[in-house]
Amino acid sequence: MGIRKITRPAIFLDRDGVLNPTILNPATGRMESPLTPKDLRLIDGVIPALHKLQSAGYPLILVSNQPNFALGKFSYQTHRDIQHKLVTALASAGIGFFRFSYCLHHPRGLTPGYSHVCDCRKPSPGLLLQARNDFGLTLSDSWMIGDQPTDTQCGHAAGVRTIRIAPSSSGACLTLQSPDPCADYFARNLTEAAEIILSDAAR
Ligand SMILES: [Mg+2]
Ligand SMILES: [Zn+2]
Repeated sequence: MGIRKITRPAIFLDRDGVLNPTILNPATGRMESPLTPKDLRLIDGVIPALHKLQSAGYPLILVSNQPNFALGKFSYQTHRDIQHKLVTALASAGIGFFRFSYCLHHPRGLTPGYSHVCDCRKPSPGLLLQARNDFGLTLSDSWMIGDQPTDTQCGHAAGVRTIRIAPSSSGACLTLQSPDPCADYFARNLTEAAEIILSDAAR
């Protein structure tokens, strides 16, 4: 007798640019992941949107590339402190994620043990496939929400539906320089993404 898993869809969410804003790194002049816990805050509207998805019964699963430790930009403890701030902010608002999946690797990193090609760094679908195996998820009814082409590529490779967050998008159109063939939908923020998912589920 095997254990019969309950199969159900899930929502996979990228972190930076979806839950929290990226921040300007003065050293590089680029918008990057938070480098300290102080840099991490939730984007307006994220909590109500997560509440709607959670109330609809979707397990929420974070899927995030965080190579800064591998790249020597911060310590492992800083990664943990940023994660702690995120979990605390979500929990205090009544949001519980099933899992926070981080790829901490980088193929050209400096940190021993974390500086190699891996199968969990997006656009690889590894973290989604692992969650499917662990939780008995139906990927064809699941969703991946992210703000980068690597997010939609990852979701597409896993066989989930994808929503590309792009603040400059409107409706079905993406007003970026390059198209995103792996995006099934576009949304300006997580609020719009949650509306797309819940209206699709109501059909
Ligand atoms: Mg992102
Ligand atoms: Zn990895």
